[in-house]
Amino acid sequence: MSTTMHAIVYHGPGRKAWDEVPKPTVQADTDAVVKVDTVTICGTDLHILKGDVAAVTDGRILGHEAVGTVEEVGPGVKNVKPGDRVLVSCITACGACRYCRESSYGQCIGGGGWILGHKIDGTQAEYVRVPFADTSTYAVPQGVTDEEVLMLADIGPTGYEVGVLNGRVSPGDVVAVVGAGPVGLSAIMGAKLFSPAHVVAIDLADARLEAAKQFGADITVNPSREDAVAIVRGLTQGLGADVAIEAVGVASTFEQCAALVRPGGTVANVGVHGGPATLHLEDLWIRNVTITTGLVDTYSTPTLLKLLATHQVDLARFVTHRFAMGDFLDAYDTFARAAETGALKVVLTS
Ligand code: NAD
Ligand code: ZN
Repeated sequence: MSTTMHAIVYHGPGRKAWDEVPKPTVQADTDAVVKVDTVTICGTDLHILKGDVAAVTDGRILGHEAVGTVEEVGPGVKNVKPGDRVLVSCITACGACRYCRESSYGQCIGGGGWILGHKIDGTQAEYVRVPFADTSTYAVPQGVTDEEVLMLADIGPTGYEVGVLNGRVSPGDVVAVVGAGPVGLSAIMGAKLFSPAHVVAIDLADARLEAAKQFGADITVNPSREDAVAIVRGLTQGLGADVAIEAVGVASTFEQCAALVRPGGTVANVGVHGGPATLHLEDLWIRNVTITTGLVDTYSTPTLLKLLATHQVDLARFVTHRFAMGDFLDAYDTFARAAETGALKVVLTS
C-alpha cells in the first residue's frame, strides 16, 4: 500500500498546493487514521490563506471538516473501529480535561480544541490522523448522505450553539441575523426550530439574502439600500430585536447588532474578528443587554445528527458546488469567489 497521499498544504500567506506528502499513521494510542470520503472548505481556511491565523505555519495540511471511513485505530480507541463511517468534527476533544468535562470542547486544554488544519495536519487530504478518536468523531447515522453530515463538522453546530443557543432564541422572538453566509444561514435554520415570530436576514449580497429566504428568513434587508434598525424597530413597537446574531466578523456588524437589539435582549457574536470593535457602553449600560461570544464547542452535534436523521433540518441545501478531490484548487477558486459563483459550501469527494 502507498505510503504517500495528496493534500492541500499551506505554504505561507496566499500560497497553497495539492502536494504529495506522507500518509499519516497512528501516533498516540487514542488516534484513528481516517480515509477522507468527502471534505469541504471553510471561510476560516480563506482567513488562514490571507495570513490571519498565525498558528498555521508552512507545511500544514489545511481543513477541519470531513466525513470518512476509519482505516486504522490505536490500541486505546474503544468505540471506533476500522470500516466505521464517521464525521470528523472541527473540534477535537480529549474528553477528560476541565473544559471537556463541562462540554466546552472548543476550550479543551488536554490537547484538543480547534487543532485540525490549525495546530496539526487537517482534513483536506486523502487521509487524516484524528487524535482522541472516541470523543472527536461521530458515527454517521443510517439514511443520510455524507454531504449532509459534512455540514455538521462546523457550520451546523456553530450557527446553532454560538448564535441560536447563546442568543437564547425563544418562541415568538424577533431574531436578526447579520451576515447570511453558511454560518448565518445555519443560525437562521436553527432559529426556526424555536418558532420565532420573525427572522430578519441582513446582508450586503442579494444572492445571500435569496439563500436566507430559502433557509427560513421571512424578512431580508440589504443595508446598502435599507435601514436595518428602522425595519427591525418597525416590527417590534420600536423596541428592537430580541436576539441579534453577528455572523460576519467585522467591527461595523458587531456595532450594528448592538444597535439592533432591544433592551433586555441578547447580542450573540459568532464572527471571527481580526480587530477591535467599539462597545457603546454609554448607550448599552442602561439597556440590560447581554453580549455573548464563543468558539464552537460542538456539544450540539449529537442533537443535530438526530434532527438530520429524522428530517427536521435540511442540510443538503448548503451544497452548491461539487468537485473531485483531485480538483481541489478549482474548488478553492470557486469558494473564494462566492459573490460571483454563488457558492455556499463546496464539497469534494474522493
Ligand atoms: P462568509 O464570509 O461566507 O459570510 C459572511 C457574510 O457576511 C457574507 O454573505 C457577506 O456578504 C456578509 N457581509 C459582509 N459584510 C457585511 C456587512 N457590513 N453587513 C452585512 N453583511 C455583510 O462567512 P461564514 O462562513 O458564513 O462565517 C461567518 C463568520 O463566522 C466568519 O467570521 C467566520 O470566520 C466565523 N466563524 C466562527 C466560528 C466560531 O466558532 N465562532 C466558527 C466558524 C466560523
Ligand atoms: Zn479536553
